[in-house]
Amino acid sequence: MNNITLPEITKRLLDAERILLLSHTNPDGDTVGSVTALSRALRLCGKKVICLCDIEIPERNLFICGEGAYLTSCQVRESDLVVSVDVASAQMLGGLRDTFESRTDIRIDHHASADDFAACNFVDPTAAACAEIVYELITLLPCDLCEEVASPLYTALNTDTGGFRFSNTTARTHKIAAALMETGAAAADICETLYENVTLESLQSNALFLEKYQLHMDGKILFLPITMTDKERYGFTDENIEGYATLSRKIAGVELGMVMRERDRGGYKVSMRSRKTVDSAALCALFGGGGHARAAGATIEADSFEEACKKLIDGVLANIVFER
Ligand code: AMP
Ligand code: MN
Ligand code: MN
Repeated sequence: MNNITLPEITKRLLDAERILLLSHTNPDGDTVGSVTALSRALRLCGKKVICLCDIEIPERNLFICGEGAYLTSCQVRESDLVVSVDVASAQMLGGLRDTFESRTDIRIDHHASADDFAACNFVDPTAAACAEIVYELITLLPCDLCEEVASPLYTALNTDTGGFRFSNTTARTHKIAAALMETGAAAADICETLYENVTLESLQSNALFLEKYQLHMDGKILFLPITMTDKERYGFTDENIEGYATLSRKIAGVELGMVMRERDRGGYKVSMRSRKTVDSAALCALFGGGGHARAAGATIEADSFEEACKKLIDGVLANIVFER
């Protein structure tokens, strides 16, 4: 892996005029918040910046970047420098993969399990979110940190740590969060938007969860298969399903929660969340995916949903190791 330092990244950014920032598909709070903050800081430095993701930013994350902040396609030649943020693998570029897999100049990431598709990589697996890295990077740029930059970074930190509760949260995470609040990040408003706004659909989703969950290995593994038909029955989109994986790990006795969904755009996607006894990233790597030890994902290659589920369960049951 070809590594690059933060001062070197700063130089490359300041030498460029037109910069393209890439977020990963199924864009979450970290990729959207980190890219948004970096784009705003770079514009304050006089740069032309395009933010790109293969799909529209989901409704629930739009408050981070605002409407129209992202494009869903563009030409590589429209930029001097292509930087991906929070993209652990070429698979996570989704529909942008063909164009950008071999054209990404710098990858900024915090996933330990990663394929280094970019020319240069800055990867810090001790960072709870890419927002921690982007915060350090922005302090090296010739612009002042302001609320418009601090709020998306705070959101990114908050979401990737599950509200500062997951085991990736460190003293550094809290120190950066404090610095962002001092700069004007609207912490209480952000938390209200993130956590105190459940929709009736998401409450109803608990019924689907209770109806469909399966237990394996004496209840240590919870598996939830969600088909397009299930989603249609409840009027759900993929967005309504995302909280299920986190919910499954909350249940007493469950060490590994796995949610398999037939995606709106086609394909079969598994999300894993585990307690400290299970390495989710290692299990997802069996299927070409990856992520973090406690939260990982993969797209399963199969001809039908049933086949994808069988492949997943067989693979996990044969390979899972419970550490004590
Ligand atoms: P998800 O279940 O999609 O929310 O993913 C959980 C974590 O795993 C996130 O940090 C993702 O960035 C990461 N992840 C998801 N899919 C992949 C993949 N195919 N390769 C590497 N990391 C992934
Ligand atoms: Mn992410
Ligand atoms: Mn992240």
